[in-house]
Amino acid sequence: MKASLTVLPGDGIGPEVTTQAVNVLNAVAAKFGHEFSYEEALLGGIAIDKTGNPLPPETLRTAEQSDAVLLGAVGLPKYDAATVRPEQGLLGIRKHFGLFANLRPVKAYPVLAHYAPLRPELLEGVDMLFVRELTGGMYFGERQEQGDGDTAYDTELYSVPEVERVAHVAFRAAQIRRNKVTSVDKANVLAAMRLWRRTVTKVHEDYSDVELEHALVDSCAMHLLTRPSSFDVLLASNMFGDILSDEASVLAGSLGMLPSASLGEGRFGLYEPVHGSAPDIAGQGKANPIGTILSAAMLLRYSLALEDEARAVEAAVDAVLASGARTADIAGGGQWLSTSEFAQAIIAQI
Ligand code: NAD
Repeated sequence: MKASLTVLPGDGIGPEVTTQAVNVLNAVAAKFGHEFSYEEALLGGIAIDKTGNPLPPETLRTAEQSDAVLLGAVGLPKYDAATVRPEQGLLGIRKHFGLFANLRPVKAYPVLAHYAPLRPELLEGVDMLFVRELTGGMYFGERQEQGDGDTAYDTELYSVPEVERVAHVAFRAAQIRRNKVTSVDKANVLAAMRLWRRTVTKVHEDYSDVELEHALVDSCAMHLLTRPSSFDVLLASNMFGDILSDEASVLAGSLGMLPSASLGEGRFGLYEPVHGSAPDIAGQGKANPIGTILSAAMLLRYSLALEDEARAVEAAVDAVLASGARTADIAGGGQWLSTSEFAQAIIAQI
Protein backbone atom coordinates (compact mmCIF):
# COMPACT_ATOMS: atom_id res chain seq x y z
CA MET A 1 0.00 0.00 0.00
CA LYS A 2 0.97 3.67 -0.37
CA ALA A 3 0.82 5.97 2.63
CA SER A 4 1.93 9.53 3.24
CA LEU A 5 3.09 10.37 6.72
CA THR A 6 3.88 13.65 8.44
CA VAL A 7 6.88 13.58 10.76
CA LEU A 8 7.14 16.20 13.50
CA PRO A 9 10.52 15.63 15.17
CA GLY A 10 10.05 18.49 17.68
CA ASP A 11 12.67 19.23 20.32
CA GLY A 12 15.36 17.62 22.48
CA ILE A 13 15.59 13.89 21.75
CA GLY A 14 12.56 14.15 19.43
CA PRO A 15 14.62 14.26 16.18
CA GLU A 16 16.84 11.34 17.34
CA VAL A 17 13.95 9.00 18.10
CA THR A 18 11.75 9.93 15.12
CA THR A 19 14.69 9.40 12.71
CA GLN A 20 15.00 5.84 14.03
CA ALA A 21 11.26 5.16 13.91
CA VAL A 22 11.26 6.27 10.24
CA ASN A 23 14.16 3.89 9.57
CA VAL A 24 12.09 1.10 11.10
CA LEU A 25 9.04 2.05 8.99
CA ASN A 26 11.26 1.95 5.89
CA ALA A 27 12.42 -1.54 6.82
CA VAL A 28 8.77 -2.61 7.19
CA ALA A 29 7.92 -1.06 3.81
CA ALA A 30 10.81 -2.90 2.13
CA LYS A 31 9.92 -6.25 3.71
CA PHE A 32 6.16 -6.11 3.13
CA GLY A 33 6.16 -4.27 -0.21
CA HIS A 34 4.68 -0.91 0.83
CA GLU A 35 5.52 2.63 -0.22
CA PHE A 36 5.63 5.19 2.60
CA SER A 37 6.45 8.84 1.88
CA TYR A 38 7.33 11.35 4.57
CA GLU A 39 6.94 15.09 4.93
CA GLU A 40 8.72 16.76 7.83
CA ALA A 41 7.21 19.81 9.53
CA LEU A 42 7.81 22.09 12.52
CA LEU A 43 6.17 21.77 15.94
CA GLY A 44 7.08 22.97 19.44
CA GLY A 45 10.21 24.89 20.45
CA ILE A 46 11.90 24.56 17.07
CA ALA A 47 8.77 26.00 15.43
CA ILE A 48 8.83 28.97 17.83
CA ASP A 49 12.54 29.49 17.06
CA LYS A 50 11.94 29.49 13.31
CA THR A 51 8.48 31.05 12.95
CA GLY A 52 7.41 32.44 16.34
CA ASN A 53 4.49 29.98 16.39
CA PRO A 54 4.58 26.53 18.11
CA LEU A 55 2.07 25.21 15.55
CA PRO A 56 2.64 26.99 12.20
CA PRO A 57 -0.29 26.83 9.73
CA GLU A 58 2.04 25.11 7.25
CA THR A 59 2.41 22.20 9.72
CA LEU A 60 -1.38 21.78 9.92
CA ARG A 61 -1.67 21.88 6.11
CA THR A 62 1.00 19.18 5.77
CA ALA A 63 -0.64 17.00 8.43
CA GLU A 64 -4.10 17.43 6.86
CA GLN A 65 -2.78 15.95 3.63
CA SER A 66 -1.30 12.88 5.28
CA ASP A 67 -2.64 9.54 6.54
CA ALA A 68 -1.05 9.90 9.98
CA VAL A 69 1.40 11.95 12.01
CA LEU A 70 4.45 10.65 13.84
CA LEU A 71 5.64 13.03 16.56
CA GLY A 72 8.82 13.01 18.67
CA ALA A 73 8.47 15.31 21.68
CA VAL A 74 8.22 19.01 22.36
CA GLY A 75 9.65 21.23 25.09
CA LEU A 76 12.79 23.28 25.59
CA PRO A 77 13.94 24.55 29.00
CA LYS A 78 14.41 28.10 27.62
CA TYR A 79 10.64 28.31 27.04
CA ASP A 80 9.64 27.06 30.52
CA ALA A 81 8.58 30.51 31.73
CA ALA A 82 7.55 31.96 28.35
CA THR A 83 3.97 32.84 27.36
CA VAL A 84 4.31 31.23 23.92
CA ARG A 85 5.28 27.65 24.83
CA PRO A 86 6.16 24.53 22.81
CA GLU A 87 3.42 22.45 24.52
CA GLN A 88 0.76 24.77 23.07
CA GLY A 89 1.63 23.28 19.67
CA LEU A 90 0.88 19.79 20.93
CA LEU A 91 -2.48 20.74 22.47
CA GLY A 92 -3.29 22.72 19.32
CA ILE A 93 -2.70 19.85 16.90
CA ARG A 94 -4.71 17.40 19.05
CA LYS A 95 -7.57 19.89 19.14
CA HIS A 96 -7.38 20.72 15.42
CA PHE A 97 -7.87 17.08 14.44
CA GLY A 98 -10.53 16.34 17.10
CA LEU A 99 -8.47 13.52 18.60
CA PHE A 100 -10.82 12.30 21.32
CA ALA A 101 -9.31 8.90 22.16
CA ASN A 102 -5.85 8.42 23.61
CA LEU A 103 -4.44 4.90 23.43
CA ARG A 104 -1.56 3.93 25.71
CA PRO A 105 -0.37 0.33 25.76
CA VAL A 106 1.61 -0.81 28.80
CA LYS A 107 3.57 -4.00 28.54
CA ALA A 108 5.95 -5.44 31.12
CA TYR A 109 9.06 -7.05 29.66
CA PRO A 110 10.27 -9.97 31.80
CA VAL A 111 13.91 -9.05 31.09
CA LEU A 112 13.35 -5.58 32.55
CA ALA A 113 11.32 -6.74 35.57
CA HIS A 114 14.00 -5.55 38.01
CA TYR A 115 13.40 -1.92 36.91
CA ALA A 116 9.73 -2.09 37.92
CA PRO A 117 8.60 -1.60 41.52
CA LEU A 118 6.50 -4.82 41.61
CA ARG A 119 7.61 -8.39 42.29
CA PRO A 120 8.60 -10.07 38.98
CA GLU A 121 5.90 -12.77 39.30
CA LEU A 122 3.20 -10.06 39.33
CA LEU A 123 4.53 -8.67 36.04
CA GLU A 124 4.25 -11.91 34.10
CA GLY A 125 1.85 -11.51 31.17
CA VAL A 126 1.19 -7.81 31.79
CA ASP A 127 0.01 -6.39 28.46
CA MET A 128 -2.77 -3.80 28.69
CA LEU A 129 -4.08 -0.94 26.62
CA PHE A 130 -5.55 2.22 28.09
CA VAL A 131 -8.22 3.96 26.02
CA ARG A 132 -8.64 7.37 27.63
CA GLU A 133 -11.28 9.91 26.62
CA LEU A 134 -9.23 12.98 25.71
CA THR A 135 -11.45 15.97 24.99
CA GLY A 136 -14.22 15.94 27.62
CA GLY A 137 -14.92 15.48 31.32
CA MET A 138 -13.46 17.42 34.22
CA TYR A 139 -10.48 18.88 32.31
CA PHE A 140 -12.80 20.70 29.91
CA GLY A 141 -15.90 21.28 32.09
CA GLU A 142 -16.90 24.60 33.59
CA ARG A 143 -14.74 25.64 36.52
CA GLN A 144 -14.54 28.61 38.78
CA GLU A 145 -12.71 29.93 41.78
CA GLN A 146 -15.13 32.00 43.82
CA GLY A 147 -14.87 34.88 46.22
CA ASP A 148 -11.28 35.47 47.22
CA GLY A 149 -10.40 31.91 46.23
CA ASP A 150 -11.72 30.08 49.30
CA THR A 151 -14.31 28.19 47.20
CA ALA A 152 -13.78 26.51 43.84
CA TYR A 153 -15.47 23.97 41.63
CA ASP A 154 -14.84 21.89 38.50
CA THR A 155 -17.47 20.09 36.45
CA GLU A 156 -17.39 16.50 35.24
CA LEU A 157 -19.68 16.67 32.21
CA TYR A 158 -20.16 13.90 29.66
CA SER A 159 -22.74 13.44 26.91
CA VAL A 160 -23.89 10.07 25.56
CA PRO A 161 -22.27 10.62 22.09
CA GLU A 162 -18.93 11.52 23.71
CA VAL A 163 -18.92 8.27 25.67
CA GLU A 164 -20.24 6.20 22.76
CA ARG A 165 -17.48 7.18 20.34
CA VAL A 166 -14.64 6.42 22.74
CA ALA A 167 -16.34 3.17 23.84
CA HIS A 168 -16.42 2.03 20.20
CA VAL A 169 -12.66 2.67 19.99
CA ALA A 170 -12.12 0.50 23.09
CA PHE A 171 -14.30 -2.39 21.90
CA ARG A 172 -12.72 -2.37 18.42
CA ALA A 173 -9.25 -2.34 19.99
CA ALA A 174 -10.22 -5.33 22.17
CA GLN A 175 -11.30 -7.26 19.07
CA ILE A 176 -7.73 -7.26 17.77
CA ARG A 177 -6.35 -8.05 21.25
CA ARG A 178 -7.72 -10.43 23.92
CA ASN A 179 -11.42 -9.47 23.65
CA LYS A 180 -11.89 -7.92 27.07
CA VAL A 181 -12.77 -4.36 28.12
CA THR A 182 -12.67 -3.07 31.69
CA SER A 183 -14.63 0.16 31.87
CA VAL A 184 -13.52 2.35 34.76
CA ASP A 185 -15.98 4.67 36.51
CA LYS A 186 -17.25 5.91 39.86
CA ALA A 187 -20.89 5.07 39.21
CA ASN A 188 -21.62 4.53 42.91
CA VAL A 189 -21.14 8.27 43.56
CA LEU A 190 -21.04 10.42 40.40
CA ALA A 191 -23.97 11.08 38.04
CA ALA A 192 -21.67 11.60 35.03
CA MET A 193 -20.15 8.19 35.75
CA ARG A 194 -23.60 6.56 35.91
CA LEU A 195 -24.17 7.95 32.38
CA TRP A 196 -20.73 6.57 31.47
CA ARG A 197 -21.58 3.04 32.72
CA ARG A 198 -25.05 3.04 31.12
CA THR A 199 -23.66 4.18 27.76
CA VAL A 200 -20.75 1.72 27.72
CA THR A 201 -23.17 -1.12 28.57
CA LYS A 202 -25.38 -0.11 25.63
CA VAL A 203 -22.46 0.16 23.15
CA HIS A 204 -21.33 -3.30 24.29
CA GLU A 205 -24.50 -4.77 22.69
CA ASP A 206 -22.73 -4.33 19.31
CA TYR A 207 -19.73 -6.37 20.45
CA SER A 208 -20.94 -9.78 21.63
CA ASP A 209 -17.43 -11.23 21.08
CA VAL A 210 -15.93 -8.89 23.69
CA GLU A 211 -16.27 -9.40 27.45
CA LEU A 212 -17.15 -6.23 29.39
CA GLU A 213 -16.46 -5.66 33.08
CA HIS A 214 -17.11 -2.48 35.05
CA ALA A 215 -14.61 -1.43 37.70
CA LEU A 216 -14.79 1.38 40.21
CA VAL A 217 -11.75 3.61 39.83
CA ASP A 218 -10.57 3.10 43.41
CA SER A 219 -10.53 -0.69 43.26
CA CYS A 220 -9.10 -0.56 39.73
CA ALA A 221 -6.15 1.51 41.03
CA MET A 222 -5.51 -1.30 43.52
CA HIS A 223 -5.93 -4.13 41.05
CA LEU A 224 -3.44 -2.52 38.63
CA LEU A 225 -0.82 -3.33 41.27
CA THR A 226 -2.19 -6.59 42.70
CA ARG A 227 -3.24 -8.37 39.49
CA PRO A 228 -2.08 -6.26 36.50
CA SER A 229 -2.02 -9.20 34.10
CA SER A 230 -5.83 -9.59 34.39
CA PHE A 231 -6.41 -6.45 32.26
CA ASP A 232 -6.67 -6.27 28.48
CA VAL A 233 -8.29 -2.95 27.40
CA LEU A 234 -9.08 -0.34 30.08
CA LEU A 235 -11.60 2.31 29.04
CA ALA A 236 -11.60 5.45 31.19
CA SER A 237 -12.69 9.06 31.32
CA ASN A 238 -10.19 11.86 30.75
CA MET A 239 -9.21 12.31 34.40
CA PHE A 240 -9.34 8.68 35.53
CA GLY A 241 -7.43 7.61 32.39
CA ASP A 242 -4.76 10.25 33.00
CA ILE A 243 -4.15 9.07 36.55
CA LEU A 244 -4.40 5.31 36.02
CA SER A 245 -2.26 5.22 32.86
CA ASP A 246 0.55 7.00 34.71
CA GLU A 247 0.19 4.56 37.60
CA ALA A 248 0.43 1.61 35.20
CA SER A 249 3.34 3.09 33.21
CA VAL A 250 5.80 2.18 35.97
CA LEU A 251 5.17 -1.50 35.19
CA ALA A 252 7.11 -1.10 31.90
CA GLY A 253 10.39 -0.30 33.66
CA SER A 254 11.32 2.91 31.78
CA LEU A 255 9.51 5.95 30.44
CA GLY A 256 11.41 5.49 27.17
CA MET A 257 9.52 2.26 26.39
CA LEU A 258 5.99 3.64 26.19
CA PRO A 259 4.12 4.50 22.98
CA SER A 260 0.81 6.27 22.45
CA ALA A 261 -1.77 7.07 19.79
CA SER A 262 -4.42 9.77 19.67
CA LEU A 263 -7.34 8.98 17.39
CA GLY A 264 -10.45 10.77 16.19
CA GLU A 265 -13.20 9.78 13.76
CA GLY A 266 -11.79 7.81 10.84
CA ARG A 267 -8.32 6.36 10.51
CA PHE A 268 -6.17 9.47 10.91
CA GLY A 269 -4.10 9.52 14.09
CA LEU A 270 -1.24 11.18 15.92
CA TYR A 271 1.43 8.82 17.25
CA GLU A 272 4.03 9.79 19.84
CA PRO A 273 6.07 8.34 22.69
CA VAL A 274 4.78 9.07 26.20
CA HIS A 275 8.05 10.68 27.29
CA GLY A 276 9.03 14.33 26.83
CA SER A 277 11.97 15.96 25.07
CA ALA A 278 14.51 14.82 27.71
CA PRO A 279 16.87 17.80 27.22
CA ASP A 280 19.24 16.27 29.81
CA ILE A 281 20.27 13.50 27.38
CA ALA A 282 19.63 15.13 23.97
CA GLY A 283 22.34 14.68 21.36
CA GLN A 284 24.24 11.99 23.28
CA GLY A 285 22.87 8.83 21.68
CA LYS A 286 21.33 7.89 25.03
CA ALA A 287 17.65 8.17 24.06
CA ASN A 288 15.68 4.94 24.11
CA PRO A 289 13.88 4.82 20.73
CA ILE A 290 11.47 2.01 21.73
CA GLY A 291 8.57 4.32 22.71
CA THR A 292 8.67 6.01 19.30
CA ILE A 293 9.26 2.77 17.37
CA LEU A 294 6.26 1.17 19.14
CA SER A 295 4.27 4.34 18.33
CA ALA A 296 5.14 3.71 14.67
CA ALA A 297 3.83 0.14 15.14
CA MET A 298 0.56 1.62 16.45
CA LEU A 299 0.45 3.87 13.37
CA LEU A 300 0.70 0.77 11.17
CA ARG A 301 -2.10 -0.91 13.17
CA TYR A 302 -4.63 1.88 13.65
CA SER A 303 -4.12 4.32 10.74
CA LEU A 304 -2.97 1.93 8.02
CA ALA A 305 -4.73 -1.30 9.22
CA LEU A 306 -1.45 -3.21 8.76
CA GLU A 307 -1.76 -5.58 11.73
CA ASP A 308 0.87 -8.12 10.62
CA GLU A 309 3.37 -5.34 10.05
CA ALA A 310 2.63 -3.82 13.48
CA ARG A 311 3.17 -7.18 15.13
CA ALA A 312 6.43 -7.69 13.22
CA VAL A 313 7.78 -4.44 14.74
CA GLU A 314 6.61 -5.40 18.25
CA ALA A 315 8.09 -8.88 17.94
CA ALA A 316 11.40 -7.38 16.77
CA VAL A 317 11.52 -5.12 19.86
CA ASP A 318 10.80 -8.14 22.09
CA ALA A 319 13.52 -10.19 20.38
CA VAL A 320 16.17 -7.47 20.63
CA LEU A 321 15.45 -6.98 24.35
CA ALA A 322 15.50 -10.74 24.92
CA SER A 323 18.92 -10.90 23.16
CA GLY A 324 20.30 -8.69 25.96
CA ALA A 325 20.73 -5.48 23.94
CA ARG A 326 20.03 -2.37 26.02
CA THR A 327 19.86 1.40 25.72
CA ALA A 328 21.47 3.57 28.42
CA ASP A 329 18.28 3.99 30.50
CA ILE A 330 17.80 0.22 30.89
CA ALA A 331 21.43 -0.91 31.07
CA GLY A 332 21.75 -0.57 34.86
CA GLY A 333 25.28 0.78 34.46
CA GLY A 334 26.26 -2.05 32.09
CA GLN A 335 27.01 -1.96 28.36
CA TRP A 336 24.54 -0.12 26.17
CA LEU A 337 23.87 0.60 22.51
CA SER A 338 23.34 4.09 21.14
CA THR A 339 19.90 5.14 19.91
CA SER A 340 20.78 4.35 16.29
CA GLU A 341 22.62 1.08 17.07
CA PHE A 342 19.62 -0.17 19.03
CA ALA A 343 17.25 0.76 16.18
CA GLN A 344 19.57 -1.04 13.74
CA ALA A 345 19.26 -4.20 15.85
CA ILE A 346 15.46 -3.92 15.59
CA ILE A 347 15.69 -3.41 11.83
CA ALA A 348 17.94 -6.47 11.52
CA GLN A 349 15.22 -8.53 13.30
CA ILE A 350 12.53 -7.25 10.95
P1 NAD B 1 10.92 13.81 30.07
O1 NAD B 1 10.00 12.71 29.74
O2 NAD B 1 11.46 14.58 28.94
O3 NAD B 1 12.16 13.23 30.91
C1 NAD B 1 12.03 12.63 32.20
C2 NAD B 1 13.26 11.74 32.47
O4 NAD B 1 13.18 10.56 31.67
C3 NAD B 1 14.59 12.42 32.10
O5 NAD B 1 15.59 12.04 33.01
C4 NAD B 1 14.90 11.85 30.73
O6 NAD B 1 16.28 11.80 30.43
C5 NAD B 1 14.30 10.45 30.81
N1 NAD B 1 13.80 10.01 29.49
C6 NAD B 1 12.69 10.47 28.84
N2 NAD B 1 12.57 9.88 27.66
C7 NAD B 1 13.61 9.03 27.54
C8 NAD B 1 14.03 8.13 26.53
N3 NAD B 1 13.37 7.98 25.37
N4 NAD B 1 15.16 7.41 26.73
C9 NAD B 1 15.85 7.53 27.87
N5 NAD B 1 15.51 8.35 28.89
C10 NAD B 1 14.38 9.10 28.71
O7 NAD B 1 10.17 14.78 31.09
P2 NAD B 1 10.64 16.17 31.72
O8 NAD B 1 12.11 16.14 31.98
O9 NAD B 1 9.71 16.42 32.82
O10 NAD B 1 10.35 17.24 30.58
C11 NAD B 1 11.30 17.71 29.63
C12 NAD B 1 10.59 18.57 28.61
O11 NAD B 1 9.66 17.76 27.86
C13 NAD B 1 9.74 19.68 29.23
O12 NAD B 1 9.86 20.83 28.41
C14 NAD B 1 8.32 19.15 29.19
O13 NAD B 1 7.36 20.16 29.12
C15 NAD B 1 8.35 18.34 27.92
N6 NAD B 1 7.36 17.23 27.83
C16 NAD B 1 6.85 16.99 26.61
C17 NAD B 1 5.98 15.92 26.43
C18 NAD B 1 5.49 15.64 25.04
O14 NAD B 1 6.05 16.15 24.07
N7 NAD B 1 4.47 14.83 24.88
C19 NAD B 1 5.64 15.10 27.50
C20 NAD B 1 6.22 15.35 28.76
C21 NAD B 1 7.10 16.44 28.91
